[in-house]
Amino acid sequence: MAYDPDNIFAKILRGEIPATSVYEDAQTLAFMDIMPRADGHVLVIPKTPCRNLLDASPDQLAAVMATAQRVARAVMQAFDAGGVTVQQFNETAGGQEVFHLHLHVLPRHDGVALRAPGQMGDMEVIAGHAERIRAALAG
Ligand code: AMP
Repeated sequence: MAYDPDNIFAKILRGEIPATSVYEDAQTLAFMDIMPRADGHVLVIPKTPCRNLLDASPDQLAAVMATAQRVARAVMQAFDAGGVTVQQFNETAGGQEVFHLHLHVLPRHDGVALRAPGQMGDMEVIAGHAERIRAALAG
């Protein structure tokens, strides 16, 4: 399947639609999910195009995973989490909805289930969570 340059994350990378970023380097961007399944739900994407795990290069995968580790450590601290869930979906049958590779980084607490998907978050609350993650990354 071909990469669609008009997918929503490509538009975020081009600055055509806004995102609440928490971290960026030469190869990756990390930003808040607007439908968070847990407080502090972050998405990590490569800056270069690929649909998902199936067509990504080893370099893209390595860069995205390194940033996911950095963000995972930060959300552990920012949310006093007991653990982190990392999710990644491939093609429609695999649960993927946005066709630009992304890892979900979800801080977790014992006994607290993930929220149902598809519920829009409060952008002010999400901005506050992003601030906590940025502070943990800086510290
Ligand atoms: P999936 O492709 O199934 O991994 O899901 C795509 C994820 O992207 C979902 O968790 C959505 O809430 C999230 N999402 C969709 N549009 C945006 C956006 N503009 N900014 C941040 N997250 C988004």
